Amino acid sequence: MAKTETPRRIRGTQDIFGDEQRRFAHVLSTFERVRALYCFQRIDIPVFESTAVFARSLGETTDVVSKEMYTFEDRGGDSLTLRPEFTAGIARAYLTEGWQQFSPLKLTTSGPVFRYERPQKGRFRQFHQIDAEVIGAAEPAADVELLVLADQLLRELGVSEGVTLQLNTLGDAATRDAWREALVAHFEAHRGELSEDSLTRLEKNPMRILDSKDPRDRPIADSAPDIDAYLTDEARAFFEAVTAGLDAAGVAWERNARLVRGLDYYRHTAFEFVTDKLGAQGTVLAGGRYDGLIGSLGGPETAGVGWAAGVERLAMLLEEPAVERPLVAVIPKSADWNSRALEAVTLLRSAGFSCSMAFKGNLKRRGEIANKEAAVSKLFVGDPDGPGSALEMSFYNSSLSNAEQDELVNKVRDVLGDRFGWSMGSAGWNNP
Ligand code: ATP
Ligand code: MG
Repeated sequence: MAKTETPRRIRGTQDIFGDEQRRFAHVLSTFERVRALYCFQRIDIPVFESTAVFARSLGETTDVVSKEMYTFEDRGGDSLTLRPEFTAGIARAYLTEGWQQFSPLKLTTSGPVFRYERPQKGRFRQFHQIDAEVIGAAEPAADVELLVLADQLLRELGVSEGVTLQLNTLGDAATRDAWREALVAHFEAHRGELSEDSLTRLEKNPMRILDSKDPRDRPIADSAPDIDAYLTDEARAFFEAVTAGLDAAGVAWERNARLVRGLDYYRHTAFEFVTDKLGAQGTVLAGGRYDGLIGSLGGPETAGVGWAAGVERLAMLLEEPAVERPLVAVIPKSADWNSRALEAVTLLRSAGFSCSMAFKGNLKRRGEIANKEAAVSKLFVGDPDGPGSALEMSFYNSSLSNAEQDELVNKVRDVLGDRFGWSMGSAGWNNP
């Protein structure tokens, strides 16, 4: 009989475990903490939307919409798409849920996003983003607030070394029209040297050629005219207000006149935090102002600005994963002591101690498991040396000083002392 084939993990997806999972969780918990410091609200939105939500807001010609979306028809015949990013779905929610009444809204979210890309280091088909947005604020102060949040997040994660904030302006509508004309003239003059993709971009959105990764396009993109000569007074003043805000907050930045965002809806501020440590996948956090987005979804013209960062890329940069180790490994010395041990571990956990509870193998094996978990302390429940003492506490390979060990013993005694009727000295528990 043929052996049943074991199912495979889908290419570009991940099973996140152990060290990797600790890094991953650390990014998310740090984001959650910093979000609260800036008084951004957490929201959650669906993993899939009508395909139109992304097609209309990102633009049909973007790489994401034209090549990378997971789009399928559901059983009712509707075209749905797994979200390739958050902003479009948040804008949709803003409109359909009547969130205008709460404007300006400072929001964060996080979760899986999906893009059909060629998997490689730091590039997956299901990856995870953290995301921050301010909707309904046209002031440059909103851009500054988001950038300072991003900067503090990277510093608190300890990954800011080797990371630079690259900043650009894409101007207002008048600026973009004038710049676009100049770009078209430049690219037309080099038509013969452009990649096929860029020839299409030339028809639909010439700005994107600046963003091309194709080596054939790079010299032409690099010699294209800067936006600066085309900035209206208003657009220039906006950009200056953003940079002045960053300077006041002490956030270092660098002008990158070549930086454009891949999506159609960006205006004014565009930025990327780029690291020199992840090779081609060096962009860890990216975003900008998207005043045109909500209008393109059929809503009233609404200002918005935001960013997203790849959780995996941030996790890869973390120095040391935060290792979780039990503070107390509770070990019954024999089966007779199982229920007493269970009572102790329940009390300790209720009091906020992180505890593991041994239930596998003999006493020796249980001790080994606690060592493997790198438990800070072991609490043996049972008769250690015959009658006279019923509980003992010992410390495994502990980084605790003697004073800290005494403190821990005292805290455990506070929780267990009364119930167990035992007192405990710094050397361990003694049955009085
Ligand atoms: P890239 O140029 O690397 O393709 P992007 O411009 O497509 O990035 P954004 O759409 O700005 O990326 O997404 C924000 C962040 O999400 C990126 O800065 C990156 O950290 C992360 N990211 C994007 N695509 C992937 C992917 N396929 N796998 C893992 N992380 C990703
Ligand atoms: Mg991409």
